Amino acid sequence: MKTDLADEIIYSRRKTLAISVLRGGKVVVRAPLRTSQAQIYAFLHEKAGWIEQARAKMQRLQPTAGTYTYTDKEQIWFLGKQYPLHLVNRVEGGFVFEPDKGFLLGKGQQAQAAQLLTEFYKRELRIRVARLIEVYARREAFHLTAVRITSARTRWGSCSSKGSLNFSYRLALTPPACIEYVVVHELVHTRIPNHSRQFWAEVARILPSYRQPREWLKKHGNSLPLLS
Ligand SMILES: [Zn+2]
Repeated sequence: MKTDLADEIIYSRRKTLAISVLRGGKVVVRAPLRTSQAQIYAFLHEKAGWIEQARAKMQRLQPTAGTYTYTDKEQIWFLGKQYPLHLVNRVEGGFVFEPDKGFLLGKGQQAQAAQLLTEFYKRELRIRVARLIEVYARREAFHLTAVRITSARTRWGSCSSKGSLNFSYRLALTPPACIEYVVVHELVHTRIPNHSRQFWAEVARILPSYRQPREWLKKHGNSLPLLS
């Protein structure tokens, strides 16, 4: 069943009707088993105003990210670009990246693909982050205690009160300018822990072009694929 207000109705052993609007604008109704169509219809019309508002808001957001399937010719993100995956008979060392070809993965390694790709992203990001930190920490005399590459899904980076910086390996999917922006953002947090005017002025002084990569992350960050 489909009404003009809902895209999907899910029946389950629940007690009450509920509506949720997903990123991208899809409207889902959850209903107790054996709820009649008339009941659902009445409920939807009662909430019509709210649904329209929520839908307008969520349509502006990217739909929730999909998950890699690690099948031949799938597009794999790396540094803000997509490269095809080639399943090959034999390859040394898990996920192999060749800039002109894309990614190579052994056919026998598909089961470990997510883990191998995570390791690849972590390795690549660690190198890039270390290089950037060296440049900026030296130039601006930032003091930091540790740098970690984490598996965080919802935040790109963080900075502890003791000056230890964390960066999500998922940054390896984003353009180099985004990695640079997040590194500078977290470095500035070692001095200014909040997002005050002074904070943003300091980010702008060190990295005048920070707005574009920040926008890229806002626009595309949530729709980048998950590894598993
Ligand atoms: Zn921040």
